[in-house]
Amino acid sequence: MVSADPSVDALPLIALQGIRRSYGGGADGAPAVEVLRGVSLRIHAGEFVAIVGASGSGKSTLMNLLGCLDRPSAGSYHFQGQDVATMDADALAWLRREAFGFVFQGYHLIASASAQENVEMPAIYAGMPEGPRAERAAALLTRLGLGERLGHRPSQLSGGQQQRVSIARALMNGGRILLADEPTGALDSHSGAEVMRLLHTLADAGHTIILITHDRAVAAQARRVIEISDGEIVADSAPESPKIQDKSASGAHWVSASSYQKYSEGGGPRRAFWGEMREALRTAWRGMRLNRVRTGLTLLGIVIGVASVIVMLAVGEGAQQRVVAQMGTLGTTLMYLGGRAPPSGGPAGVITPEDLQAIAQLPEVGHVMPIIGDPITVRYGNADRQVYVFASSHVMPEVHHWKLQQGRYFTDAEDRSLAPLVVLGSQARAHFFPGAQSPLGKFLLIGNSPFEVIGVMAERGSDSGAQSYDDMVFIPYQGGRARVYQAQTQPDYTVVTAASVALVQAAEAAVHRLLLSRHGREDFGISNAAAKLQAEAETRRAMTLMLGLIAAVSLLVGGIGVMNVMLMTVRERTREIGIRMATGARQRDILRQFLTEALLVTLVGGVAGVVIGVGVGAALIAAGVPVVFSLSFMAGAFACAVATGLVFGYMPARHAARLDPVTALGST
Ligand code: ADP
Ligand code: MG
Repeated sequence: MVSADPSVDALPLIALQGIRRSYGGGADGAPAVEVLRGVSLRIHAGEFVAIVGASGSGKSTLMNLLGCLDRPSAGSYHFQGQDVATMDADALAWLRREAFGFVFQGYHLIASASAQENVEMPAIYAGMPEGPRAERAAALLTRLGLGERLGHRPSQLSGGQQQRVSIARALMNGGRILLADEPTGALDSHSGAEVMRLLHTLADAGHTIILITHDRAVAAQARRVIEISDGEIVADSAPESPKIQDKSASGAHWVSASSYQKYSEGGGPRRAFWGEMREALRTAWRGMRLNRVRTGLTLLGIVIGVASVIVMLAVGEGAQQRVVAQMGTLGTTLMYLGGRAPPSGGPAGVITPEDLQAIAQLPEVGHVMPIIGDPITVRYGNADRQVYVFASSHVMPEVHHWKLQQGRYFTDAEDRSLAPLVVLGSQARAHFFPGAQSPLGKFLLIGNSPFEVIGVMAERGSDSGAQSYDDMVFIPYQGGRARVYQAQTQPDYTVVTAASVALVQAAEAAVHRLLLSRHGREDFGISNAAAKLQAEAETRRAMTLMLGLIAAVSLLVGGIGVMNVMLMTVRERTREIGIRMATGARQRDILRQFLTEALLVTLVGGVAGVVIGVGVGAALIAAGVPVVFSLSFMAGAFACAVATGLVFGYMPARHAARLDPVTALGST
């Protein structure tokens, strides 16, 4: 931009041409109010300008425009010859960060941060490393007479001191142009005079100062006074100011910004990223500490969610693995066969020994094991007890995948010769032969017949639903029918095994076909243990899924809690967001700040949830509940929590980032 007047510096720092700013007139029906009505103004580097006017004349509006916090409705604004209208939000943030320093009537310090942290803030967004940043902030504060107050919160400082902190903040990134809106308005006359002296010193050192005030006496101290009334400039003591020595160009600032420049030029964006990240974390942590109760309650939602996901899935997995284990011991090849009244009516069929022999001939069939069993009084010495006496063939251990602990099982030959032999379940053994005494060779009285003990089965544990096999005694089928179950005309039921797991369905169909042709009608029933167990496994899987879903829902509720708290936080800290934006934070800095806070809550909640979930699981294991932990569940639950934080934190964070700086600053 070239001036027509050769006596004027070729390139003004700030050039406004026909600036207008109106409010309202939007969709809400409020009438449009034009606050600035064509302001044209040039300010050169190094000037000390006062803009004076009555309250409501549009001074603050003008300052917000000058400081790139706001955009004009019409007119042009050139900063160092560049049209500000062409700059995007990030470029404007850069300008605010690099060129401007704001000093407000209400100080606008962040209440939860110390004086030093407040001063450091603009440098954080400029990417200055921690060490030099702290040093510079402390030096500035010391220079302004606050060396003893570095760690004080704004509430612990007087008005004059707070205003000095905000001036230090404005100088932190160099402060080439200081925009001071009624800086003395809230101060007593002594502190006000002190601040004015400070502004003079800064002006002498080459800073460009734009002072806004309604007080003519204050304005008179500036070197150039511009009077504004009703949104128009009505007087200007030096409309085309003479060429002014721009000391700022020679780097003769009151406080050198060279240390800062060194980093902003040489320091990689990576360094800045980690610095900002650390700052975001620190602020997030401080926020969490300050709102302990609220944070705790939010955390609780996440903790419960994560812990319940882990516990539910571990319990479900435990139950499922137990079913699978049972399928292993019970065998997945078992079928149960018995007489049953046909659906068409009539008596139940009888499964004869000839039927069984014919079934055993089928190629798909492995073993055929008829069974008779009833509770019968069993006696040894003077101990007697109702025991389930299980009469079946010699293949029982094989069919049930069951080993002997001691002695042996009876043979096919012994079965056929009606030998009176008995094998004990481990609990039956413990009952009749407590202690270490060997039961082998002893005789039990079953009903009225003596049976010789030849073996003890290994402990089996309880199967789901069924009575415990450990409590039973086992006798040969033929001998049992001859001596104990004389009245029995057919087996209670018969276990038929398929030749292999793959043949279960085929074997069931073959047995069905065979018996149907032998009996002429369906007076029998076959049930398939594998199918039953599979159905049970299915049920449990569904249960696990449901429990997992419930847990996931609780995690979701936790996430909504996070969102709720984040929205509240954003609302409470709207002014802080405005301050951060005024000191040069980009939208993404604000986004990152609030996302970090949401993430930190869910991270802490996730860790606590995993710990508590594992604790509860361990307690369940100690209580005998089958629980199977898997690392992937824990990692999954944790990842879910973090994802929840990101997803539910994003909306409030974006809301914060998109706030208009002027509106945010104006909020209380
Ligand atoms: P000053 O700082 O000179 O006291 P302002 O620039 O703050 O004046 O405000 C000038 C006028 O603009 C006032 O009448 C005020 O009501 C109006 N105004 C300021 N901000 C807004 C806004 N966001 N919406 C509507 N009117 C506004
Ligand atoms: Mg004002």
